[in-house]
Amino acid sequence: MPKIVIPTALRQYAGNTAAVDVQGATAGEVLASLTTQHPDLKKHLYDANGKLRSFVNVFVNDEDIRGLQNENTPVKETDDVSIIPAIAGGVGAEARTASSLPDLSKDEIARYSRHLIMPEVGMDGQRKLKAASILLIGTGGLGSPLGLYLAAAGIGRLGLVDFDVVDHSNLQRQIVHGTKDVGRPKIQSAKDRLSDINPHVQLDTYETALRAENALDIIKNYDIVIDGTDNFQTRYLANDASVLLGKPNVYGSIFRFDGQASVFYPGGGGPCYRCLYPEPPPPGLVPSCAEGGVLGILPGIIGVIQATEAIKLIIGEGEPLIGRLLLFDALKMKFRELKLRKNPECPLCGENPTIKELIDYDAFCGITPPQPEPKVEAVSDWEVTPAQLKAELDSGKQITIIDVREPHEWQIGNLEQYGSKLIPLGQFPSRVNELNSDDEIVVHCKMGGRSAKAYGVLKEAGFKKIRNLKGGILAWADQVDPNMPKY
Ligand SMILES: [Zn+2]
Repeated sequence: MPKIVIPTALRQYAGNTAAVDVQGATAGEVLASLTTQHPDLKKHLYDANGKLRSFVNVFVNDEDIRGLQNENTPVKETDDVSIIPAIAGGVGAEARTASSLPDLSKDEIARYSRHLIMPEVGMDGQRKLKAASILLIGTGGLGSPLGLYLAAAGIGRLGLVDFDVVDHSNLQRQIVHGTKDVGRPKIQSAKDRLSDINPHVQLDTYETALRAENALDIIKNYDIVIDGTDNFQTRYLANDASVLLGKPNVYGSIFRFDGQASVFYPGGGGPCYRCLYPEPPPPGLVPSCAEGGVLGILPGIIGVIQATEAIKLIIGEGEPLIGRLLLFDALKMKFRELKLRKNPECPLCGENPTIKELIDYDAFCGITPPQPEPKVEAVSDWEVTPAQLKAELDSGKQITIIDVREPHEWQIGNLEQYGSKLIPLGQFPSRVNELNSDDEIVVHCKMGGRSAKAYGVLKEAGFKKIRNLKGGILAWADQVDPNMPKY
């Protein structure tokens, strides 16, 4: 029987299994067999018209079915079918003649001696690294190992883009920052650490979010772009700006135990990110690392792979990951590789491109940009603030609190002392019957996003007395109970 490998992000809709035995002789038939066994998967794989969603890629063995016969692609008993959803991180340095490359100082020769004695790098390769410039988008999980190793390797100029501030919850994986840096802008913390590692590297810092308004101006100054972002808007923006400017874009992304890496470079004959994922998933469908978690080591592995690819591009050695998607599974400790093809219909790098300038990426990804907070916090009638809920509980009001997070999050901290009950969001639709629509119900999660979905399920089921805890248990920790652990 053929087998379908289920990616981590979708396993919760497939009984938490990693692979499902299916029946059928074509890709379409085995997918139908899969969704018959696990109906919850259907809406994640197909749109309302029954068409395979464009951000879901299906591979038979290592080939994308879009490059074969789509859903009519034959599947043999021994074939492996994989679903690869989008997961919400000598070319670059233009061929320079040896005489135009910068010389190395005596200090630099001593520092890079282990490179200089390798024939594949040597004096010329090290001078190419010194002549090169790389833009790192993000100084977080992927940006940390990228920055550390690229600075150590002697890249002449590194650009760092980030707008965030170091938080305690970053330190489990963002190893360029230290405990003493909590509260500092990441860009400053990273700059201090990288200049300590290698004072010969010029560091350009951009304390801003990369946006359509500034991306071309920033990216045009660099040979190579490295995408270390954690959201789809910036990923598409980095891809589009890199393609429009003809720069290679070294891609990496991470989720829980799974990682992906590739080099998108239509100028080098390969596809771009849009060839692989023409459209982003709708907001909320694919969990972010903040919601789903990430193994702290994983960005280390994927970031170091990205750094390796950047160095290979600069020195012009080896086979780059152009046209190949590398998949890493830390639990199995396995790498797999899929062939990526350039999509001739790609709106950006295809034969008749329609995207010729940067667009509104928030709108493209269906995101509403954050609005400035109103001075007096207005709470709509479907929400309750933590302080208000606490006051109602203290006054003796009977309230059923439903926690829709996962059991391992419940273990970190919960509202059990107020009678809170755990019903994870994935089980919510089938367990609605455990609730009484006459009760006053408050749903909550970590930050308020998942519980808003639970609110929708209850509303649809005819419940009237429901409210969502604004800001989730993190807001409860901030506003009501300082002893509640934050994560
Ligand atoms: Zn493309």
